[in-house]
Amino acid sequence: MLTVHAAKGLEFIAVHLPALGEGKFSARNSGGGTKLPSGILKPEMLGWGAEEEQCLFFVALSRACDVLNIYRAKQYENKPTEPSNLLELITEVLPPAQEAVKRPKTLLAIKEELSQRQPQLNFEQQALKDYLDCPLKYQYRHELKIPYFPPESPISKARLCVYKVWDKINQRIKNHFSVDREFINQTFEEVWNEQGPTNHPYAPEYRQEALAMINWTLKIHPPNIDVLTRPIWTVKLGDAEITLYPDYIKLVKENQQTILVVEKLNFGESPRKQIDEIIYALYEEAALQNRSDSNVRTEIKASIMTNQVTLPIPVSLALKDKGIQSYQNAIKGINNGSFTVRETKLCPLCPYYFICPAEHR
Ligand code: SF4
Repeated sequence: MLTVHAAKGLEFIAVHLPALGEGKFSARNSGGGTKLPSGILKPEMLGWGAEEEQCLFFVALSRACDVLNIYRAKQYENKPTEPSNLLELITEVLPPAQEAVKRPKTLLAIKEELSQRQPQLNFEQQALKDYLDCPLKYQYRHELKIPYFPPESPISKARLCVYKVWDKINQRIKNHFSVDREFINQTFEEVWNEQGPTNHPYAPEYRQEALAMINWTLKIHPPNIDVLTRPIWTVKLGDAEITLYPDYIKLVKENQQTILVVEKLNFGESPRKQIDEIIYALYEEAALQNRSDSNVRTEIKASIMTNQVTLPIPVSLALKDKGIQSYQNAIKGINNGSFTVRETKLCPLCPYYFICPAEHR
């Protein structure tokens, strides 16, 4: 945590800017400044404080490289407070405000609940991933149900458009309608105008990239009823069951051998990093549990759309053991109520950074 003055000349991946209630952003009205006897300032100098405050505000805003979160309370010192008029300077680019919630439960209530509850047996893949990233983040999001607003960037909006277009194409295929170029273009236009980063200065570049990703994905997976897109799969680990959603699943015949191909689509991650992702251990186990007979061989793949490559993922026994063990530990941790912090250098991007008690300030 540091003052805006101290942040001058620095840049951060994420900036959290508190106290944007009227008169709260600077020390102007806090009583800390020196009051000059009236008449010392010339009339034209009276607005200088406000101008300086605006400059300071823009210094604070421009420290953020990727994520900027602005906060204000509805009341300060028990007095209802309006939004700072500094926010009027950026209304055109401000997204709609997101309401925070009051702390939903007291710590005592949480402890009591934990001691009484039955072990949880059904888990979503994303929830377990959250736990593996940081158990405290899992608790905030999935136990305390504190709204989770992931950082919104033009890249994430463009990628969301890619997913939406796939969903619409796949829905059409499932309904037994054909998918032609005209449908794809029209769907992309609609989705882009609704959800794309259309106001961003680099909107044309993001648009081109999103379209290239869709076209490449359709080239490697031409719309086809035999390819299952985002099927709901379950995998049993002991008594627990995990629901997961691989992006593509298909059965292929090769030299009299039936192969069950399970594929995950990724944006941007380094192809090398794919090999270490423990989610593939879960895919491997799910494929073994879901295949129609034991002669069907499984093949796990990762397609990286930004690089336009598809990689086979060799899930070694060691990687599988390690992955399955991690998921089992996560399930055990959740059922034991173990929600410790796991700080990483990505913490400033966490939606709960501002309320997290970890010592990363
Ligand atoms: S800020 Fe970091 S340590 Fe805190 S909840 Fe988020 S991920 Fe966990």
